Amino acid sequence: MSAVYLDGEVMPAAEARISVDDRGFLFADGVYEVTPAYSGRFFRMEHHLRRLSRGLRELRIDYDPSGLPGVHERLLAENGLTAEEVAYVYVQITRGAAPRSHAFPKKPVPPTVYAFARKYQRPTREVWEAGFTAVKVPDRRWARVDIKTIQLLPNCMAQQAAVEAGASDALLVRDGIALEGAHSNFFAVLQGVVVTHPLTNVVLPGITRGLVLELCEDLGIPWEERPILVEELDLADEAFFTGTTTEVRPTVAIDGAPVGDGQVGQVTRRLFVAFMECVGQVAAEVGSGA
Ligand code: PMP
Repeated sequence: MSAVYLDGEVMPAAEARISVDDRGFLFADGVYEVTPAYSGRFFRMEHHLRRLSRGLRELRIDYDPSGLPGVHERLLAENGLTAEEVAYVYVQITRGAAPRSHAFPKKPVPPTVYAFARKYQRPTREVWEAGFTAVKVPDRRWARVDIKTIQLLPNCMAQQAAVEAGASDALLVRDGIALEGAHSNFFAVLQGVVVTHPLTNVVLPGITRGLVLELCEDLGIPWEERPILVEELDLADEAFFTGTTTEVRPTVAIDGAPVGDGQVGQVTRRLFVAFMECVGQVAAEVGSGA
């Protein structure tokens, strides 16, 4: 039985209870964060906390997240997630429970804070080497997806469309621009340049995205933040998605058409290996080439 955190206490998941009046339940009025732990240590925790704090500020939810690192550590320990495995902690904070009414409660209520820890299962080397596929799906999300809210129905529908099409990822498209995945950021390699959408209100500022751009800089790989037109995908040499639970995932076909030569590309491979080194993982485990 897994141990979860709810409002100041760690308890068995089956004992965790929230109110039916919780605004997370009624309105998806809340934010969340997912932070990975490699070799028993949380990676870029401060980045994740900064993004969470910004989301809380934007939604005007009054919560001080400074105690969360301790909660994260505790959940790893209580769930027996040792340094040998990669794990992640999911935390969500909703505005709290109040009689249903669209406007915020007049008298502030305590936010509901829920967290759980899970083991991360990286794809096997064979699976990674074969590459992943994506399908384009219209982006039907709201206009503030830079905030990591728990309001993810359009993301769920997009991912379900990918599953039903037999693909790994949904590539969200709006106004002819390839934006990001349903739970990941998107990159294309165009004429040797690693390109991803700039940080605006139409994409999530992914922590892995930021790391990958830093790695490009370190490795001397040219990179650029600009919108990627859907037509450009036909000309892309490589494409990949990034995310906390996606890491660096090569896309070898989009809507059934090969990306580049339809194989995992060298730029994606270099970035994955550098990513693995950065998080202290053995790159040979997957994706290090023949
Ligand atoms: N975009 C979306 C829509 C996401 O849900 C996620 C993962 N939460 C990302 C991008 C990647 O962000 P990160 O690298 O911080 O996991």
